Amino acid sequence: MNFFKTMYCRLFQGVFKIALPILPYREPKILENNQSVADVLKQNLINKVLLVTDKGISKLNLPAALTEILQKNNIEVLIYDNTVANPTTDNVEEALQMYRQNECSAIIAFGGGSAMDCAKAVGARIARPKKSCGQMKGILKVLKKIPLLIAVPTTAGTGSETTLAAVITDSKTRHKYAINDFPLIPRYALLDANLTLGLPSHITATTGMDALTHAVEAYIGRSTTKQTRKCALDATKLIFENLLTVYKDGSNLKSRQNMLQAAYLAGVAFTKSYVGYVHAVAHSLGGKYNVAHGLANAIILPYVLKMYGKKIYKKLHQLGVYAGLFDASTPKEIGAKIFIEKVEELNANMGIGKNIPEIKQEDIPALARTAEKEANPLYPVPVLYTAKQLEKIYIEVKNG
Ligand SMILES: [Zn+2]
Repeated sequence: MNFFKTMYCRLFQGVFKIALPILPYREPKILENNQSVADVLKQNLINKVLLVTDKGISKLNLPAALTEILQKNNIEVLIYDNTVANPTTDNVEEALQMYRQNECSAIIAFGGGSAMDCAKAVGARIARPKKSCGQMKGILKVLKKIPLLIAVPTTAGTGSETTLAAVITDSKTRHKYAINDFPLIPRYALLDANLTLGLPSHITATTGMDALTHAVEAYIGRSTTKQTRKCALDATKLIFENLLTVYKDGSNLKSRQNMLQAAYLAGVAFTKSYVGYVHAVAHSLGGKYNVAHGLANAIILPYVLKMYGKKIYKKLHQLGVYAGLFDASTPKEIGAKIFIEKVEELNANMGIGKNIPEIKQEDIPALARTAEKEANPLYPVPVLYTAKQLEKIYIEVKNG
């Protein structure tokens, strides 16, 4: 990358880093059981709540235990379960209408990333009734408190219970965009491992690797704080200690709980410290070939870590020592290489391959341009690359 572009990117990231302590970031308070959700709602004098979820989850009856407890506490629960995989503006409007018609006064986002996105956008629409979702696209367009939002993740990976983004697809144009603002960060997150017990093993594996990618990319980036480094370290350790266990034995409640904790911590880390080229490349492949986000991250992560080279030896060494992968006396370079090998080993042990064969050679230049545009200047990556340089990653990920 040329001198001026490099200067521009680093200056842009520097401004964000300086602003970090004064921006109104917050973390959702963790709730550990259904009764504590009821207690929070009662403390806030709420007796009607809208639960936003999807058909898959409602068919599995996952919200039943929570809704039962809420009803016992005289809290009425309205369920909107039409959320689709890439939630649309129609989803948001339907859920909004349900919220209004029933005079609800709080929202529970129950599910994976999609339910969270939809629920956050409903909150934004309530805070800003005159603005459509499209008009709130971008950053800092909500700027007003949304109704009490409680997130209940049913996978351990996305970390969207901690983030300020809602990704919505326009029902008419199919344009996909994000609404990003601080009021969208949920006030509470219920981390209940019972809800993740039924996850199929490959979803457990790929969502868990997504969380690992959040932690690693946040940690090796240049915009960390003491708090985000600690969260990323703890998340990485928890994932190396628990992910393979839950992959092999989905019913291990303790390890499931640890994975939820890890995904939450990794979410807190990347909300403030961002992700990097792994995510930028994964998003481009998701958009073009529909490759699942976690799977793409899992496969791409080792290639990008290798490409960064000696710039990240020290950080990978720190992550590896903290996670107990090797001794602190191991030389930096060797430690970094062991760390990458351990990521590859974890993938292999969970049946995740080494390449993404869907990638077509002729698509690579455009994909690399998309990834470059997403990452630069926003992501404080350890080494800056041009679109041309990023093409190398696609070629490696294509061929394995
Ligand atoms: Zn991710």
